[in-house]
Amino acid sequence: MQKKEQLYEGKAKKVYATDDPDLLIVAYKDDATAFNGLKKGTICGKGVINNQMSNRLMQRLEREGVPTHLVKELSERETLVRRVEIVPLEVIVRNIAAGSFSKRYGVPEGVVFDAPTVEFSYKNDALGDPLINTSHAMAMHLAREDEIETIKRYALRVNEVLRAVWADCGVTLVDFKLEFGRLSDGTIILADEISPDTCRLWDSKTGKKLDKDRFRRDLGDVEDAYTEVMRRLCEHDA
Ligand code: UDP
Repeated sequence: MQKKEQLYEGKAKKVYATDDPDLLIVAYKDDATAFNGLKKGTICGKGVINNQMSNRLMQRLEREGVPTHLVKELSERETLVRRVEIVPLEVIVRNIAAGSFSKRYGVPEGVVFDAPTVEFSYKNDALGDPLINTSHAMAMHLAREDEIETIKRYALRVNEVLRAVWADCGVTLVDFKLEFGRLSDGTIILADEISPDTCRLWDSKTGKKLDKDRFRRDLGDVEDAYTEVMRRLCEHDA
């Protein structure tokens, strides 16, 4: 599949058109940003890891009944995906308190929930991706009620599957962010990526953070952490 014009450049990925109007090529970069773009840096090799990890996890999710945009990995950094119209909601699932949840509600990081939570942010950089409830999302016509129900159902299924995958790797899935899109016929599928940029992953034994929080919080060993989780995934999810 030939790469044609660049359609979009985001913080961590570039998106290209292809000969087929229903397919796009995503190219993963090593660029890292945090705090709505205020902090910028490079995580060497991240693009390769995020591309390969996301594809591996999406392949698994497909087998477990969650439709995704994945078509084919083209190279270390590039993947062919189905073109979708992104639903402008960041879908965040949490198993353990951390990050903005801890800050917003004063719950210490590490408190384990009885059941996973699902929340939405309005994908809008200018507004800083504010938390949004479903009636607000519907009022703004970001998604219909039935679409939101589908998205929630898929998000919780993704959590069940990925929690088990990561547990086998000795990694605790603390929380993660998903994005969904609509195919031209309106079908909702999982899009974007699933990687240490978008998940909190803690070593199950030591609690060591193995994700982008190492970059956000200047904890060091960022590249090593990404490499380590990828290595464990390849070993255990053969
Ligand atoms: N997350 C993300 N992109 C965002 C915001 C959050 O991928 O723009 C992920 C983040 O890596 C974490 C989860 O979503 O795994 C929950 O993030 P949180 O709301 O705690 O925000 P943060 O503390 O990252 O600002």
